[in-house]
Amino acid sequence: MSITHNKKNLEIWIKNRVRHDQVDKYLHDQKDFIDEDKIFTALEAGKSPDAGYVRDILKKSLAIETLNLDETAALLNVTDPDLLAEMRQTAAAVKKKVYDNRIVTFAPLYLSNFCVNNCLYCGFRSDNILARRRTLSIDEVKREIEVLAGTIGHKRLIVVYGEHPQSDIDYMVDTIAAIYEVKVKTKKGVGQIRRVNVNAPPLSVESLRSLKEVGIGTYQVFQETYHHDTYRRLHPQGTIKGDYRWRLYCMHRAFEAGIDDVGIGVLFGLYDWKFEVLGLVTHARILEAHCGVGPHTVSFPRLEEATHIPFTLQSKYRVRDEDFKKIVTVLRLAIPYTGMILTARETASMRRETIGLGVTQIDASTRIGIGAYSDRSEEQEGRRQQFLLGDTRSLDEVIRELARDGYITSFCTAGYRCGRTGECIMELLKTGKEGQFCKLNAILTFREWLDDFASKPTQDIGEEIINKELDEVKKNIPGMYPHLVEYYERVAQGERDLYF
Ligand code: SAM
Ligand code: SF4
Repeated sequence: MSITHNKKNLEIWIKNRVRHDQVDKYLHDQKDFIDEDKIFTALEAGKSPDAGYVRDILKKSLAIETLNLDETAALLNVTDPDLLAEMRQTAAAVKKKVYDNRIVTFAPLYLSNFCVNNCLYCGFRSDNILARRRTLSIDEVKREIEVLAGTIGHKRLIVVYGEHPQSDIDYMVDTIAAIYEVKVKTKKGVGQIRRVNVNAPPLSVESLRSLKEVGIGTYQVFQETYHHDTYRRLHPQGTIKGDYRWRLYCMHRAFEAGIDDVGIGVLFGLYDWKFEVLGLVTHARILEAHCGVGPHTVSFPRLEEATHIPFTLQSKYRVRDEDFKKIVTVLRLAIPYTGMILTARETASMRRETIGLGVTQIDASTRIGIGAYSDRSEEQEGRRQQFLLGDTRSLDEVIRELARDGYITSFCTAGYRCGRTGECIMELLKTGKEGQFCKLNAILTFREWLDDFASKPTQDIGEEIINKELDEVKKNIPGMYPHLVEYYERVAQGERDLYF
């Protein structure tokens, strides 16, 4: 095939990608659900909120009710240090009520960095001719999993794809199936990836059905910015990603395809952060109203420097650390039931500070070069990566620190495998019942990880946490204790993947 012919095929592929029939039916009066006037009005009206009003809002968060735009705007506008401290304490209390002291860990796995889009902020943009492009073969994917599941001990992944015919739905399905197949012998049992979450471009309903069939966890797509004009400027028209609405309604299509576990997000640093928080809350509320279930996770990455991508240093909206902490606090209060993901884009100290404000999931031992888990040389050059990482600590180090701070690391993947997703899990989370299953599964999976992968110092501190958790179950959920002890002993003998 000649290069021109390939180019032509690529153009046709791009042209047919957006399915307007799968978007237009959701519009009202030709408008999408991001009403910018409403957001700006809420921000203006919420200026200098009264302390009594703020405390009433905090009560609503504590009752695990989603806040509306006016309430969220009021919280965003709080500047009084005492009131801000109350907000932070309430955010921590909300997190404790829904997720207790559990932190879920995962690893991102970049499978292909070919991309037809040209997002101004991304190292994979098509204009970046200095980027080294690569798509992993199935054997290479398996080699990555051998390290992730067999040496590091991860059980959950988020797989990441650029948008390109080489990494289209068939490739996604094949790679995910291959990931689930790999089983590696460990010290006492078997290492295996049990949950694959997906960060992929917006897909059609048909392709989303295929993802559902192969058995994914969360389908995650970030809107990047909810501000229409900014979106247009940063995602050149004529590219697939240039279509704001195709992206905005991809979670509606996911629900149509039977995927009720979705993750939304914003790339903070592209536009005004207060506007973006209200965009996220609007999106969460629309999903609750339209699909009967809100987002399972919210992500809030900050724009990071990327090699050969000048925009990443020039954006006037880059978010300061203090504002970032406020974003985390307000999101926890505004969408109290949702999982909140903080990635290794942030430094170790920023992660330390924000975990207490409401974060529920973090990555560790992270490598974002393509093929970089099994071949370390792939990580060393900026031109092979999408952006530069802030926290490069190992999973063992991160777990040790979490344990020192009183957190138990959970590798639980039970939820989607026993049908606790979507509306069902939302209800369980809101009423605190999911917490009971999660607590038991955190203990079992942490036992597995300590026995198979922990260093001696991590093992020692991990035992303290696990004994404390066992005591809590005995005291607070005595009905489940004997059943837990039975499973716990079997896991300690080397049996794997037992869950409630
Ligand atoms: N291609 C898919 C897409 O755009 O949705 C998924 C992969 S993309 C690599 C995943 C996410 O990385 C994007 O949604 C964006 O938010 C984030 N990202 C891109 N450039 C970044 C940068 N310079 N700093 C931090 N995050 C970035
Ligand atoms: Fe491609 Fe996603 Fe990067 Fe945009 S953000 S250039 S779509 S990989």
